[in-house]
Amino acid sequence: MRNTGIAPTLTLAADEAASLLAGAQDVTLVAHVQPDADALGSALALGLALHQRGATVRVSFGAPEQTPESLRGLDVAGLIVGPEDVPAQPDLLVALDTASRDRLGCLADRVDTASAVLVIDHHATNERFGTHHLVDVEADATAVLVLELLDALEVPLDEPIARCLYAGLVTDTSCFRRADPNTHAVAARLLATGVDSEAVTRELLDTHPFGWLPMLATVLGRAQLEPASVQGLGLVHTTVRLADMAGVRSEEIESVVDLVRTTSEAEVAAVLKEMQPDRWSVSLRAKQCIDVSAAAAEFGGGGHRLAAGFTADGTADHVLHRLRTALHHAPRHQAQPRHGDISGSSGL
Ligand code: AMP
Ligand code: MN
Ligand code: MN
Repeated sequence: MRNTGIAPTLTLAADEAASLLAGAQDVTLVAHVQPDADALGSALALGLALHQRGATVRVSFGAPEQTPESLRGLDVAGLIVGPEDVPAQPDLLVALDTASRDRLGCLADRVDTASAVLVIDHHATNERFGTHHLVDVEADATAVLVLELLDALEVPLDEPIARCLYAGLVTDTSCFRRADPNTHAVAARLLATGVDSEAVTRELLDTHPFGWLPMLATVLGRAQLEPASVQGLGLVHTTVRLADMAGVRSEEIESVVDLVRTTSEAEVAAVLKEMQPDRWSVSLRAKQCIDVSAAAAEFGGGGHRLAAGFTADGTADHVLHRLRTALHHAPRHQAQPRHGDISGSSGL
C-alpha cells in the first residue's frame, strides 16, 4: 500500500515490461484459477490494448470452464479462450494477479514452455516465477500495475479498457474502502473515460439470483463464533456445503465471506467451501492485525496479509482444527490506522 507516487524501481520494471510487450506479435494472458475481477479485468485490459496495437492476443484461465457470469461483459473483443486453445509453447506468456505457478491450474505447464513469462502481480506471497516481473506488493490491485504498464506503452485509455481495470479496483479494495490515494487517483482517470461506476459495481457485487437468500440463511445459520481462538482475538467460521450450492453461481458462494467477516467479535473469518467431499477451498479474512497469508501458507496457500486462501483435504472439523493451530501461531502486527492490504470482496 503506498501513499505517494510510484517507486523508481517500479517505473523501471514497468518500462522493461513495456519494451517486452511492445515488440510482441503473439501474447497469451492468463489469470489465476477461479478468476476474480482483478485477475480477469487486468488480463482483458492489457489484452484489449495489445489487440488494438495489432498483436494476436488470447486470454485464458485454468478453471472453471465458463467465465464467471458477472465478468463476461468485460470481454468486449471476444479474447477469452479455453485452456485447450492456449498454445503448448506460447511466445510470450503474461500471468496476472497470480502469486505462484500452481495458481494457474492446468495452464501452469505453459510457464515452463513459453519463450518468456511476464508476471504482473501485487500478492505478498508472489514467488517471482517468471522471466520478467512487474510485482508491487504495495499496489492495491494488479489493475493498478497494468495501468502503469499501459502508460509506459503510451496506450490511450478508452472506456472498455478502463472498465476492465475499474472492475479490478472495485473488488480488490472492497469498493474503495481500502484504497490508497494513488488508487483513488487511478479510479478518477478511469472514470473520466466514461465508465459507469454504478453499473459496473451493481453487476459485480450487488446482483444475485433469489436462490442466494435461502443459501445464505442456511450457511450463515451454521456460523460459529470462537472468541478464545486466534490468540484471544476471535474466530468466526462457517461452511458452504455442496448441497448449499445448487442453483447459485460462484459469485454467490464467494460473497459469503464478506458477510461473515463483519462479525465484530472476531478478528478472523474463515469460510470453508466444499469443492468435493472432504476437499475444501478456504477463504480467510482478517480485520486488522493477524497475518492470514502466513496461516494460509501453512496449508500451501497464500494471498495478502488481510485476505488469503488455501485448499485442504479432510473433514471440515479436521481442517478447522489445523486452522485454529495455524492462526494461534500466525504473526500479529500492530493494527494499522489506515488501509489494509486486503484483496477482494470476492477476493483478490
Ligand atoms: P479468496 O478467499 O478466494 O477471495 O482469496 C483471497 C486471497 O487469497 C486472494 O488474493 C487469492 O489470490 C488468495 N488465494 C485464495 N486461494 C488460494 C490458494 N489456494 N493458494 C494461494 N492463494 C490463494
Ligand atoms: Mn485475484
Ligand atoms: Mn488482486
